[in-house]
Formats: sequence, structure tokens, C-alpha cells
Amino acid sequence: MPTPPPRIAVIGGGPAGLTFARVLQRHGLPVTVHERDRDPVDRAQGGSLDLHRDSGQVALTAAGLLDEFFAASRPEGQALRLLDRAGTVLLNAPADPDDRFKPEIDRGELRALLLGSLEPGTVEWDRRLRAAVPLGDGRHRLDFTDGRSTTCDLLVGADGARSAVRPLLSDAEPAHSGVVFVDVVLTDVDRAHPELAELIGHGMTFALDEGKGLLAQRNSGGVIRVHAAFRAPSDWGRDLDRGALRAVLLEMFADFGPVLRDVLHRGEGPFDVRAITALPVGHRWRHRPGVTLLGDAAHLMSPFAGQGANLAMLDAAELAERIAAGGPLDEAVAAYEERMFPRSAEAAARAATGIEDCIGPGGPAHAFAHFQAITAGNPQRT
Ligand SMILES: Cc1cc2nc3c(=O)[nH]c(=O)nc-3n(C[C@H](O)[C@H](O)[C@H](O)COP(=O)(O)OP(=O)(O)OC[C@H]3O[C@@H](n4cnc5c(N)ncnc54)[C@H](O)[C@@H]3O)c2cc1C
Repeated sequence: MPTPPPRIAVIGGGPAGLTFARVLQRHGLPVTVHERDRDPVDRAQGGSLDLHRDSGQVALTAAGLLDEFFAASRPEGQALRLLDRAGTVLLNAPADPDDRFKPEIDRGELRALLLGSLEPGTVEWDRRLRAAVPLGDGRHRLDFTDGRSTTCDLLVGADGARSAVRPLLSDAEPAHSGVVFVDVVLTDVDRAHPELAELIGHGMTFALDEGKGLLAQRNSGGVIRVHAAFRAPSDWGRDLDRGALRAVLLEMFADFGPVLRDVLHRGEGPFDVRAITALPVGHRWRHRPGVTLLGDAAHLMSPFAGQGANLAMLDAAELAERIAAGGPLDEAVAAYEERMFPRSAEAAARAATGIEDCIGPGGPAHAFAHFQAITAGNPQRT
């Protein structure tokens, strides 16, 4: 009798969990993804992601989805601008429409692309992991908040920043970086806010001052998404409603140019506040049979390296391909972890420096070198 394939359970249907499931299925292996969202459109997925040639795109190739990604992506979104608080352009790196180095895609579109590639029923929605209990021999029992349970031979935690699987492997917890983001969205920008649309351009624009900045990103469909970023305690803004947040931010950014302040005047919401947290740089764990982590669950870092989703997808593709190559399951997982640890440590170190360069005391002059390094990384721009 042939050995049955291992029962592989993934917690989390983000970029990591869905990429992992897709690559496994391409190799004919069964997998179930348990996701806490009620359905694919339960919550807004947020801004756009640039998927890099040497990481996110490698994973999409393994998933057989690279052409679909290029068709849905926005190469012009690779443009990068650095402004000072008055709105003076300090650095401008436009993007070539044929540049495939790291085109942007809205998160919602990426999720739809990955979900559409999976066999029906792969994702179990509305299934939040409450606890994972080791049963010995590497097997785990998974208890969900709806009272259901299941068992698996390999538990893959792809459940993001506040992973419920991580405590099985590590005591590490994400720590506050000292920076808080408040998210503001503007719609129909070319018609309703043409001056702002012109200033922001087609990609990412950072307007920075000492210890604060407006980080604006063009999304598809005439949307501009802005993170007002500044240094504050992790519980900042908890007791403020939308109107109060707007007023406090207008005060905080009073010395910014009028077009930039218009973001805060005219922003339609959601005024979501989030502390930017990170796991310790170089986070790792001693290998344990039957359980591992992908993406943010393994190496949460600030977004200032622009790598989190890219690494999450690369982790996922690599682990799936190692498992699909055959051989003992546990050896495949251990080999994945040994390759992932140094790679993510390097990116996490860059993210930790990046957040200080951009939202630190040095202001835009300090950030200039950071952005020059980013644009120089693109061979088509040098
Ligand atoms: C403002 C901002 C901008 C960013 N910009 C970029 C960028 O430009 N490029 C880039 O590469 N990265 C970027 N990142 C980082 C990127 O968003 C993350 O690294 C990426 O989403 C990680 O993917 P993941 O699948 O590991 O986790 P997630 O995307 O967090 O997905 C985890 C999934 O698990 C589910 N889940 C959580 N807990 C449970 C549970 N107990 N049971 C069941 N399901 C659960 C969640 O609902 C979610 O669907 C940015 C991050 C932020 C905050």
C-alpha cells in the first residue's frame, strides 16, 4: 500500500499561506488553509505591494502565476519620490512602463489571484485557531474558536504578526518600533484632488521631516493611500475618534506644505491607527518536528525594507517545493528553516535601519541615502 500523503494544515490565508497551498497543489499534494476571515471580502485588504524579481516573483513562478501577475500589476507604481515638508522634490525616480523589476499589485487583487488558483474548498473560512496542542510524533490537534478540532502531521503557521502558532516554537513577541501609522485614503484623486495626484505621482512618495512623515502610495482605481507616520507610544490615539484624530494630525503636520496637509483635511478615512511592531532581528527557533512558520509569523519587520510580503511568498514557495521533492517531511522543514533564518535576518536588519532613517531625527537628508540605495537596487534605473 502506498503511504498516504501527510496531512498539512495551514493557519492563515495571507500571501504566505495561499502561496504555500498553491505550490503544494501544483505538485499534487493535499493541503487545508484555515482562515479567520469570514469570507474572501470580509475586510479591506489594504494598500498595494511591489513584488520583487528575486523574491515575490520567484514565488509566483513556482505558483505558475507570473504572467497573470504581470497582467494585473502596475509597473508605473515603482516610481519613487522623496519630498521635504514643504513639498520640494529632493529625489524623483520615475518608472519605465516596461520595467518588471518590482511592479505593484493591490493586495486585494493578489489575494484574488492566489485564491482563484486553488482547488475549491482549500480554504476553510471563518476558522480562527484558538490553540494548537502537540500530540507527540510531530502531530498536532488544532482547536478552533467555533468549537471544531482537527489533527495534522504538519502545522504551518502563516498567521501573521500576532501568530497563534508561534508560541509553540518561540517565546519572542513583536515589540513596538516607536513609530505609529494613521491611515488615510483619498478616492477619485485625478478629478477631485489633481494637485495632490500630480505631487504624489504614480508610485510611492515620502514627504519627510524630523521624526514624522506622510507616506503616500498610489493604488489602482484613482485611489491614494497615505500613512501619516510619527514617533509615539504604542497605545497612541486609542481614545480619539475620527474627528479628533484629524484635528491632532493637522496640528502635528502644521509645518507641512498646503498640498500635503490637504491629505489630512480631505482624507475620507479610515483613520485607522496602528503601532508598527517587529520581532527581534535574527528571530529563530530550535527546529521541532511537525510545526513551522512562514512570513510575518516567522520574521515580522517594519515595512521600511519593502520585503515582508515578498519574503512571505518566497518562504512559502521554498517550503512547498522542498516538501514536494519527497524524502522525510521533517528534513524538508528543517532545511527550509535553515535557509530562511539568515535571509530574513538580513531583511529585518534593513527594515530596522530604514524606519530610523525615514522616521528618525535625521529628517529627509538622512532618508536620502536610504532611497538612493533602493533606486540603485533596480538595474533598469542605473
Ligand atoms: C503599512 C504596511 C505596508 C507594507 N508594505 C509592504 C510592501 O510594500 N512590500 C512588502 O513586501 N511587504 C509590505 N508590508 C508587509 C506585508 O504586509 C506582510 O509582510 C505580509 O502581509 C505578510 O504576509 P503573511 O501571509 O505572512 O501574513 P498576513 O498578511 O498578516 O496574513 C495572515 C493571515 O492569517 C490570518 N490569521 C491570523 N490569525 C489567525 C488565526 N488565529 N486563525 C486563522 N487565521 C488567522 C489573518 O486573517 C490573515 O489573513 C507592509 C506592511 C504594512 C503594515
